[in-house]
Amino acid sequence: MAGIYIHVPFCKKKCSYCDFHFSTTFAAYRERMLDTMHSELLLRKSELGDNSIESIYFGGGTPSLLLSNELHSFLTLIHTNFNGLDTAEITLEANPDDITEANCIAWKSIGINRLSIGLQSFRENDLTWMNRSHSALEAEQCVSIAQAAGFSNISVDLIYGLPDLSLEEWDAHIARVLGMGIQHISAYCLTVEKKTALYKLVSSGQLTPGGDDAQSEQFLHLTDRLTSHGFHHYEISNFGLPGLEAIHNSNYWKGVNYLGIGPSAHSYNGIERRWNMANNAKYMADFGQNETWFEQEILTSKERWNELLMTGLRTSWGVNLQDLFQIAAPTKDFEANLKGFEEKKWLVKTDTHVILTREGRLMADYIASELFM
Ligand code: SF4
Repeated sequence: MAGIYIHVPFCKKKCSYCDFHFSTTFAAYRERMLDTMHSELLLRKSELGDNSIESIYFGGGTPSLLLSNELHSFLTLIHTNFNGLDTAEITLEANPDDITEANCIAWKSIGINRLSIGLQSFRENDLTWMNRSHSALEAEQCVSIAQAAGFSNISVDLIYGLPDLSLEEWDAHIARVLGMGIQHISAYCLTVEKKTALYKLVSSGQLTPGGDDAQSEQFLHLTDRLTSHGFHHYEISNFGLPGLEAIHNSNYWKGVNYLGIGPSAHSYNGIERRWNMANNAKYMADFGQNETWFEQEILTSKERWNELLMTGLRTSWGVNLQDLFQIAAPTKDFEANLKGFEEKKWLVKTDTHVILTREGRLMADYIASELFM
C-alpha cells in the first residue's frame, strides 16, 4: 500500500493564518511548474516499487485552481505508471468559490471521488480577517452543489478558537455542517504562526483569538456532538462516518509509504524522510538542471520512536507497543510516565496499545513529549 501527494503551490489570495507553501503570482510559470511536477512524478516512480496506490491527494495551495485537464494529466500519468488504482481514494482540496456545477461535473468525470472543502467559518467577519477568497454564502452553498454533481464523499474543514466565538455560535457551525449531510469533518484550532498576517493582527492587539478554556470547551463540544451523530473520532482533528475515514491521512498516521510531488511536498518510505524545497522558482530551476531539489534524512531510532508516539497518540487506535518496543526497550521513566498518565485518566493501556482518552486528547502534545526518547 502507498499514497501519492501532489502539492499544487498556487493560491488566489494569502489567507492571514496560513503558513503553507504557495504563491499568488503564478500565471507566468504555471505550465512550467506543472511540467516539472510531471517529470518529478515519473522520475520517482520506482520509489513506490510494486506497492498498490491506495490514495492520491491533491493538496496545496489550492488544487481546485487547476483546470480539470491539468488535474487529469496527473491522474493519467499515475494510472499509466503506478499499480492498483481502481479503488483508490482520490481527493481534491477545494475552496468554496471554486465549487461550481461545471467544475464538480468535470472533477467527477476525471475520477476525483472525494472533496475536502475549506469552509473554515460561516461568519462573514471571520472570512474577511482570514482574507479567504470565499464568502459565507459560498460556504453555505458549495456542499449542495458538489452533492448535486454526484459527490458522496465530502469532507469539510472548520476552525475553532476564533476571536469572540461563543459556544453557541460554534454549536451552530457544527449543526450547519451536520445538516449538510457530509461524511467527514476536519476541525483545527486557530493557531497563530509567526510570519503570518494573523501574527501581526494579534501582536498589534487588533485581534484576540479564543483563550485556552474556550478552545478546550469547543474541542470537547465538537467531539461530543459529532460522536453522538455517529462520527468516528479517529484522529484528534478528524471525524469520519464509519468506513469513510480519510484513507490518505490515516496512512500518514499509520506510517504507510507515500510519495510527495511538488514544492514543499514531503515523502516517507519507513526509513527515510524527504522534503522538496519550499520555493517555486528554485524547485523548478534545480530540478531542470539536475541539481538536488530536496533534502532528506534517515530517521534515527530516537526519531522513529518519537514519531511513532506523536502520530499514534493522535489516533483512536493508539500507539502499537510492539512496534514501539521493536525500536528500543522501554525505560523506567517511560513506564513511570505511562502509569502516571493512566492514573490521571489521560490514557488507557491495553495489552497491545496505548490510547488517549477524551480528556487526554486535550493534552496530546504534552503527553507525547513526556514519553519521547
Ligand atoms: S487557500 Fe489554503 S493554502 Fe492557500 S493561503 Fe488559504 S489556507 Fe493557505
